[in-house]
Amino acid sequence: VERTFLMVKPDGVQRGLIGEIVSRFEKKGFKLLNAKLIQVSEELAKSHYAELSDKPFFGELTGFITSSPVFGMVWEGEGVIATARAMMGATNPASAAPGTIRNDYAISVGMNIIHGSDSPENAEREIGLWFGGETLS
Ligand code: ATP
Ligand code: MG
Repeated sequence: VERTFLMVKPDGVQRGLIGEIVSRFEKKGFKLLNAKLIQVSEELAKSHYAELSDKPFFGELTGFITSSPVFGMVWEGEGVIATARAMMGATNPASAAPGTIRNDYAISVGMNIIHGSDSPENAEREIGLWFGGETLS
């Protein structure tokens, strides 16, 4: 069965949206395998977003993700990687479809509430990075 790494970003945690976001994935039918609040280190932030290290907004991105705690989660279920991305909506909330998490709760691309792995390879890499591969079943 497929697994993915999802993370409520600092803006979502500060705005009290952890419960709402967990609830959406639970109601959809996915299974929560692990979760924790984490104060992200500079090293973890850079490693997590390594693919974006050449982007002009990389410093802003790692600065934001390390600014206050995030809520990292591992979810399991058929097609969970693509379905979670669809439920999140487009990267830029201004382009995200109505009913998606980013459309419902965000207005700026930098503070867009949630992260979700974008491929099976990145899902396994991120689960290993954030949870050391340690999840429940
Ligand atoms: P995420 O990886 O967080 O799930 P994503 O896969 O939709 O988002 P990526 O291209 O991986 O988008 O970018 C990672 C994050 O970097 C985005 O979620 C967003 O917060 C930030 N970001 C992307 N593009 C920009 C931009 N042009 N300016 C500022 N921040 C950006
Ligand atoms: Mg991404």
